[in-house]
Amino acid sequence: MRHELQNLPIIAIFDLQKFTGLADKMKIIYSTLLPVKGFRAINLFGIVFARKDQPALDEHIINHESIHTRQMLELGVIGFYLWYVAEWIIRWIQYKDRYQGYRNIGFEREAHANDNDFSYLEKRRTFNFLGYLKNKISPRC
Ligand SMILES: [Zn+2]
Repeated sequence: MRHELQNLPIIAIFDLQKFTGLADKMKIIYSTLLPVKGFRAINLFGIVFARKDQPALDEHIINHESIHTRQMLELGVIGFYLWYVAEWIIRWIQYKDRYQGYRNIGFEREAHANDNDFSYLEKRRTFNFLGYLKNKISPRC
């Protein structure tokens, strides 16, 4: 069953169960402040913030953010953010480009590679992002 995305309220709660197999909810908040312009969504401690001036998040982005929530839980949340920022800096230097650096963070590689697969989190192995640290992706955009 597909979610109706046209008439979303400001705060919409999606059933994560279809994405993760967990009896959990992902909260999405449409905001004028977060994320900063140029980004569609940011996942802060399992709550997804999306720009109010952009179209509602589609299920691929929601799946993408659900993958990040799983990575986050595996690293005790704070560990995820510390690793994320540290790897972004390293990749930024490696690729000499902030955006390419961001796209090549292992967490992003895993989430982008699998956000079209809505049963990914049901079969995903714990710490699977580790397998994406070495594999260079060719960014789609
Ligand atoms: Zn991401």
